[in-house]
Amino acid sequence: MTLAADAATSLGATGLGATERWDVIIIGAGLAGMYQLHRLRQLGLKAHVYEAGGDVGGTWYWNRYPGARFDSESWTYGYSFSDELLDEWDWSEHFSAQPETLRYCNHVADKFDLRRDITFGARVRSATYDEAANEWEVAFGDGGCARARFLITAIGPLSAPTMPVIAGVGDFKGEAYHTGLWPHEPVSFAGKRVAVIGTGATGVQAITEVAKTAGHLTVFQRTPNWCAPLRNSPINAATQATIKANYSEIFAKCRDSFGCFIHAADPRNALDVSASEREAFYEKLYGEPGFGIWMGNFRDVLIDKAANDTLTAFVARKIRGRVKDQRLADRLIPTNHGFGTRRVPLESGYYEVYNQPNVRLVDVRETPIERITATGIATSDAAYDFDMIVFATGFDAITGSFDRIDIRGRGGRRLKDKWADGPHTYLGLQIEGFPNMLTLVGPHNAATFCNLPRCIEQNVDWVTDLLRHMRDNGLSRIEATAPAEEAWTAHVHDSAARLLAVQVDSWMTGVNRNVAGRQKRTFMAYAGGAPKYRDKCDEVAARGYEGFVLA
Ligand SMILES: Cc1cc2nc3c(=O)[nH]c(=O)nc-3n(C[C@H](O)[C@H](O)[C@H](O)COP(=O)(O)OP(=O)(O)OC[C@H]3O[C@@H](n4cnc5c(N)ncnc54)[C@H](O)[C@@H]3O)c2cc1C
Repeated sequence: MTLAADAATSLGATGLGATERWDVIIIGAGLAGMYQLHRLRQLGLKAHVYEAGGDVGGTWYWNRYPGARFDSESWTYGYSFSDELLDEWDWSEHFSAQPETLRYCNHVADKFDLRRDITFGARVRSATYDEAANEWEVAFGDGGCARARFLITAIGPLSAPTMPVIAGVGDFKGEAYHTGLWPHEPVSFAGKRVAVIGTGATGVQAITEVAKTAGHLTVFQRTPNWCAPLRNSPINAATQATIKANYSEIFAKCRDSFGCFIHAADPRNALDVSASEREAFYEKLYGEPGFGIWMGNFRDVLIDKAANDTLTAFVARKIRGRVKDQRLADRLIPTNHGFGTRRVPLESGYYEVYNQPNVRLVDVRETPIERITATGIATSDAAYDFDMIVFATGFDAITGSFDRIDIRGRGGRRLKDKWADGPHTYLGLQIEGFPNMLTLVGPHNAATFCNLPRCIEQNVDWVTDLLRHMRDNGLSRIEATAPAEEAWTAHVHDSAARLLAVQVDSWMTGVNRNVAGRQKRTFMAYAGGAPKYRDKCDEVAARGYEGFVLA
């Protein structure tokens, strides 16, 4: 079996010889790394990006699987920092598909001439703080290295793909693809016997698309997820004009909402209204596009079990109404968590796929996969032959991309060891013992619960202001204090305590059965909401970067 991967990445090749030197090294050329580069250039700093992939875009460069598209409204997702960019870019759909988003990333890179300061095909294998020089050295797969005073990680919350822990996972002789390492060439499913393993957000998107042309599709499901309709549609000329005329209101609304989505929670409690009023509200939300049913629902549905039960029962009824075979519907309805307590996949005809004669669901809780063979997949009760296996098995989320770099701070301390029992950070942006390293969209940041670009812009602007402050005041070293880090880490856990989501295994709680050492629940994100997070970051800066030692 060969899994498609970027050739440059698999070599880890940079083509670098001698050590390259910069003021700032940024790892990653997704939305965070691109914007950070742009801002640091404006400051007049010599910044350089090292990116494992062959071009810009991050998530949108790697995830080319069929069906990949936004669940954020496109027009809330683009960068907000340039009016000219907002004005000249037309999103064609309310929830654009991956090719369009990748085109957008390329457009931004061209417009701001970003590529001249990015080295592609450069996977950073290690990053070491040199205390004597007060510099970071990053090393690549090919032996090349680079040095800078500051290291900024922009390595993505969902960028470390994981394969399932199944015996014989490398034995399959047919076509095999991981959705997060999808080939650049078109992949045809026509007439083929296809298996998809995984029914998370990606699996749900891919299954719906593959089912359209596959000869036969078998879905291997371990944990069903609560999905809701995406209700995507094209953007016509009149709507396009309205969106463009209203960008400042749109972004202001996003800024004020918990996760920077356009959907704000309803101020009522679910159980404070009558059953018929509640039902009508759920019906309305189910009929609307996007995350409204998750983010714009009654204010207590994600924190109060009795409230959540009403929503969960509503969505279960919807699934039953869409799947003809009720025994199959039973298998598609989650029983181990309530609606919205894990990430909600948005779908476009997902449940109807199971009414097709060419689609079969294998529930691996009933008949576990025993091994992958040369010709297919063997479960406890059958051997299935396939032409293709699609691994929609997701990512080692949030900390996975950190773990894949050997990061060593003061005294040679490994970040992986420091985070062995879960992340410890200050503001999700800095780590005690790792001076001058700043972590965009890192763990404990509000960004992980966010309509990402909105939080990325906040993270990057804050870091840029910090570096400006340091330059203007002749400072060259910043490190979080241990008490500030402890207090923030405790606050992150407190912020999550009231959420029903903390009682559920998911990537938000750091559990991934495909990754060794990720079986214990922790909390990966700041759950106090983006507005509070932004206020806290601003307050820290206003108080002269309280909680940090600057020198
Ligand atoms: C399929 C999918 C759909 C999504 N849809 C949405 C959505 O609708 N709305 C939303 O808000 N978010 C969505 N997300 C989350 C998405 O990750 C963010 O929106 C955003 O793209 C994150 O940008 P980033 O720059 O932080 O990280 P990324 O886009 O992940 O970029 C990180 C980059 O760092 C590089 N990198 C990592 N490690 C190394 C290393 N060691 N050396 C060199 N380079 C490295 C990677 O190759 C990658 O290019 C989605 C994610 C996925 C996977």
